[in-house]
Amino acid sequence: CSSTTPITATLFPGDGIGPEIAESVKQVFTTAGVPIDWEEHYVGTEIDPRTQSFLTWESLESVRRNKVGLKGPMATPIGKGHRSLNLTLRKELNLYANVRPCYSLPGYKTRYDDVNLITIRENTEGEYSGLEHQVVRGVVESLKIITRQASLRVAEYAFHYAKTHGRERVSAIHKANIMQKTDGLFLKCCREVAEKYPEITYEEVVIDNCCMMLVKNPALFDVLVMPNLYGDIISDLCAGLVGGLGLTPSCNIGEDGVALAEAVHGSAPDIAGKNLANPTALLLSGVMMLRHLKLNEQAEQIHSAIINTIAEGKYRTADLGGSSTTTEFTKAICDHL
Ligand code: NAD
Repeated sequence: CSSTTPITATLFPGDGIGPEIAESVKQVFTTAGVPIDWEEHYVGTEIDPRTQSFLTWESLESVRRNKVGLKGPMATPIGKGHRSLNLTLRKELNLYANVRPCYSLPGYKTRYDDVNLITIRENTEGEYSGLEHQVVRGVVESLKIITRQASLRVAEYAFHYAKTHGRERVSAIHKANIMQKTDGLFLKCCREVAEKYPEITYEEVVIDNCCMMLVKNPALFDVLVMPNLYGDIISDLCAGLVGGLGLTPSCNIGEDGVALAEAVHGSAPDIAGKNLANPTALLLSGVMMLRHLKLNEQAEQIHSAIINTIAEGKYRTADLGGSSTTTEFTKAICDHL
């Protein structure tokens, strides 16, 4: 991509704090002179029969067409009976892997200084298959689906990622001692792929032990690959190691080269509309999107401005112990640019 021709990217501001932090991204990107034209799409108020959700067909088409986008958090009301917006996006766009880097931010002190983990979450099946039903009154059933195709695909992505990013180890996280068929198949696929990458150390760690090891010494891990639900939980745990959900980005990788970046966190209804949200996670997701587009210079500039603003300590949002508003923190980043 030439840095002079604008690239069109889809932007979903999303729900809750989403519009506030999306605004922050737009301001920072404009200040950095990033050649991106945003095509904004909003969550609808009625179900679109073509998607069975509040996301319109046109929104999905926008991502398919642009092949790149940034997504704010989308709320999923519990027990309302319609399809989750996030599930719709993942399924309809075949976003099969969710890459969640988690690293210590220089200048922001936590218990550990040396966290540098990549969580790769299978994004399309497992407990998130959406196959739940009532067997008889008082008894419900939820199906955990693991397929060879999706497991091989995410394992291949994890090993390829490790190889191309100078990583040395891939750990498959599982509970195959109990879920012998499902997690057993997932592990079998990881082992098959591992054989093709002899230069990468491969290990298997049971999820409960993995949690204990992560909080005791996160440096024990490098790249972690796992089925959907474990990825959801472990990546929040990892976020806690470096300062919380306000800091951790992610990128969803789809077939046909689609990349949809998003923060790990949700819509944070407790602080929505109060100008209190930390936009760092969405900004760093934007940086992942820029790297995906090979706009490396702008990605590094924005990354440094965020890190320097946090390290300086003058402007920090409440989740990092500061008293700055989202707007003040965003302005400080723009000033660093
Ligand atoms: P959450 O991540 O929204 O919030 C958890 C806690 O972290 C809250 O105290 C919140 O204030 C804080 N927090 C999160 N992001 C922050 C930020 N940027 N700055 C400062 N503090 C931040 O999780 P939840 O409360 O369990 O979920 C709320 C809604 O979000 C639910 O409807 C859920 O389904 C949805 N959700 C969406 C996504 C997504 O779109 N990818 C992910 C997780 C949850």
